[in-house]
Amino acid sequence: MTVSADCVLCNSMAEMREHLFFECTFVRDLWHRLLKWLKWDRQIQSWDLEWQWVKKMSRGKHPKRALLKASLATVVYGTWVERNNMIFKQKAAQGDHLLRQMKLHICTRVRYSQAIFSYICSLGN
Ligand SMILES: [Zn+2]
Repeated sequence: MTVSADCVLCNSMAEMREHLFFECTFVRDLWHRLLKWLKWDRQIQSWDLEWQWVKKMSRGKHPKRALLKASLATVVYGTWVERNNMIFKQKAAQGDHLLRQMKLHICTRVRYSQAIFSYICSLGN
């Protein structure tokens, strides 16, 4: 099996960490929409800057902050699974479906905390 060196999510650039997180338009859009759902409105930057921002902003107990690390982990994991499904199972990328899966994943990861669960319930779809 020959695997292309190009990003299968956007078909426009070589697949490298810097591209996937977050130069890739597909992944950048997912991350932006996930953050918007969590009531964070910001310009998405490079992996290093996003990671620094998440580390800084996830301090504190407010549910909005507590959800950031789980969200970053979810977008990384979800992107990798989507990429592998496209390569090895020939599935087409479905951003809306993947975003719903990521939201569900975040909700199930944090259900142990009533405060966070209540906050998520207030976010809507
Ligand atoms: Zn891409």
